[in-house]
Amino acid sequence: MTTDGATTMDELRATAIVCTACRLAEGRTQVVFGDGDPQADVVFVGEAPGQREDEQGIPFVGPSGKLLDRLLAEIGLERSDVYIANVVKCRPPKNRDPRPDEIEACKGYLREQLSLIDPKVVVTLGNFSSKLLLNTETGITRLRGTAYEWWGRYLVPTFHPAAALRGSAQVLEDMRFDFGLIRDAITGNLPTHTDETETDAEATPDDDPEQLGLFGA
Ligand code: URA
Repeated sequence: MTTDGATTMDELRATAIVCTACRLAEGRTQVVFGDGDPQADVVFVGEAPGQREDEQGIPFVGPSGKLLDRLLAEIGLERSDVYIANVVKCRPPKNRDPRPDEIEACKGYLREQLSLIDPKVVVTLGNFSSKLLLNTETGITRLRGTAYEWWGRYLVPTFHPAAALRGSAQVLEDMRFDFGLIRDAITGNLPTHTDETETDAEATPDDDPEQLGLFGA
């Protein structure tokens, strides 16, 4: 895709809603560009729209969204305080996983959204967004539980809410811990990642962009 040098979120949205850069354009009802405060301190990044999101054009409006709203409320935030986006902006057929070429075609929108919003904290929900942004093959179970320094801000990976809905109570407990990290990251009040997991966590804009998950060409 090309974002055509969009300088505002509205311009970027206008480009995205007519995007035909990958096959997902054929099956969508609407592009689910993103929702929330374009000046938010916190941006959540999910995977891909589901059926309800495709129908309404808004991310996380189904059961996963209800759980997300609840976890936000527990740390004193409302949906209107944050921005919510996905790795891919169009619904994959039958909710299959997004494919690497679809992620590749779409990731420029997310990159531009993050650069326009310039949040203090990015929260990746589940494997797809966590692996893409941290540029790692390590899975979410190992990645989560820590706030990473990432491109001059914090990145907090956590489970996708759908995993908590179908998983054990422990998944929800782990998400609650991670949401505590989000709260502490907003106030700049936390220890950061120190283990040896291979990620982009310590990346800065001076690193070689070819090597980086979201920011590579
Ligand atoms: N799951 C996601 O990853 N994103 C949505 O918008 C809805 C469900």
